[in-house]
Amino acid sequence: MDLATLGIVETHNLLKKGEIKPIDVVEALLSHIEQSELNAYIRVFKEEARNKAMQLKSNDTNLLAGIPIAVKDNICIKGAPTTCGSKILANFVPPYNATVIDRLEKQRVIFIGKTNMDEFAMGSSTEYSLFGATFNPYNPDYVPGGSSGGSATAVANNETVCALGSDTGGSIRQPASFCGVIGLKPTYGRVSRYGLVAFASSLDQIGTLTKNVEDSAILLEAIAGFDDKDSTSRKEPVPPYFNNLNPDIRGVQIGIPREYFGEGLDSRVRSQIEEALKVLEGLGAMIKSISLPHTPYAIPTYYIIATAEASSNLARYDGVRYGYRTNSEEQRIKRDLLEMYEETRGEGFGKEVKRRIMLGTFGLQAGYYDEYYLKATRARILIRSDFENAFEEVTVIITPTSPFPPFKRGEKIEDPLQMYLADVFTVSINLAGLPAIAIPCGFVDNLPIGMQIVGKHFDEQQILNVAYAYELATKK
Ligand code: GLN
Repeated sequence: MDLATLGIVETHNLLKKGEIKPIDVVEALLSHIEQSELNAYIRVFKEEARNKAMQLKSNDTNLLAGIPIAVKDNICIKGAPTTCGSKILANFVPPYNATVIDRLEKQRVIFIGKTNMDEFAMGSSTEYSLFGATFNPYNPDYVPGGSSGGSATAVANNETVCALGSDTGGSIRQPASFCGVIGLKPTYGRVSRYGLVAFASSLDQIGTLTKNVEDSAILLEAIAGFDDKDSTSRKEPVPPYFNNLNPDIRGVQIGIPREYFGEGLDSRVRSQIEEALKVLEGLGAMIKSISLPHTPYAIPTYYIIATAEASSNLARYDGVRYGYRTNSEEQRIKRDLLEMYEETRGEGFGKEVKRRIMLGTFGLQAGYYDEYYLKATRARILIRSDFENAFEEVTVIITPTSPFPPFKRGEKIEDPLQMYLADVFTVSINLAGLPAIAIPCGFVDNLPIGMQIVGKHFDEQQILNVAYAYELATKK
């Protein structure tokens, strides 16, 4: 048996029985990583992972003990470079752990490496990275989605058991869908953002990428909960998601938003989702057509708010405190502060990040603020209330994760608007702060397709249950 193919529960069971040791799992994964040409990792913790595995006691009853986990490279692990896929942070070594890392360390996990991503998590294809593109595990001519494309690829290609990602507008769910794995974005405030490099703080959330639904429940339970280091983290109790998993979905009301099934949705994706809905109906769920009337405003609203927040968050990279600083000869002679800022940022940020900073700065300018940023915050309230209204009638909402199957590498890189449309079904969920899970539901041209299940605030359990029911019913 190839241990690298197993999920958390299966690995745990073998570890607990003493049939395998943590080092066996680590070696199995490292050998897949060595053979892989998909560029899922920016850095692999080969020796650290081996050492940690050797230190761990066997027969640990903790589900996550000895389980290797990959971490997106915008989440800080003390002492290990955290680059965000950017030149400006290429040499940044955080002196602290993100809260999620502290929590996982307490569970005795093994961090196996840092995964590739679009620079500062801006993108939908993992092509905008200082470290080169990541390739789709089903066909290397295609993108793995983004920005957590490294994490999704590593999980799909058996280069880790599971992974952490971050999702601001779809960056966990869309790559999960393109790589045929499970991607969970929790409710805003459910998981601490402390130690996650900020992109758009009112939208960012850390979440999980796993091989199956049980693993998502286990991992979410480990990372969720209040943290006094994050002022937006919330005190709602964390239920035992894994023990509570229940595939009985009889009577669950599933809303299907009309606006998500219109123009722009690839007909092959649509028919896969329709098939999946029939399966859920067969399990006793009730399907109901609903309306989310402000859906057409989601993309412009998201791109105004996300870029505004990004322009502010990224102002800290000035070459003074940490990160890259220009070292041009001219600078050393002149030592002009403003020019040093300009050259540092000009050299340190990639094209897409610069585009976002410019867009965001524009939207926040005096004179344009009312017309852009303020209007976007109002549209955000309307989008949020669409969901509130819908959730009076239904328990969960199901949509496609992406309007199209994985696309070819290079296909959208020169056309940012086309790239932005990859998020048309995911960004509203972040604007509304809701939890959502993307699960695989079939293939188009041998490339995976995903279905998105959206829940009420803090109702991760319900979306996990629906996902679990579908997974069990369709397991080969
Ligand atoms: N693709 C979206 C963007 O580029 C979402 C990114 C994300 O969720 N981090 O903004």
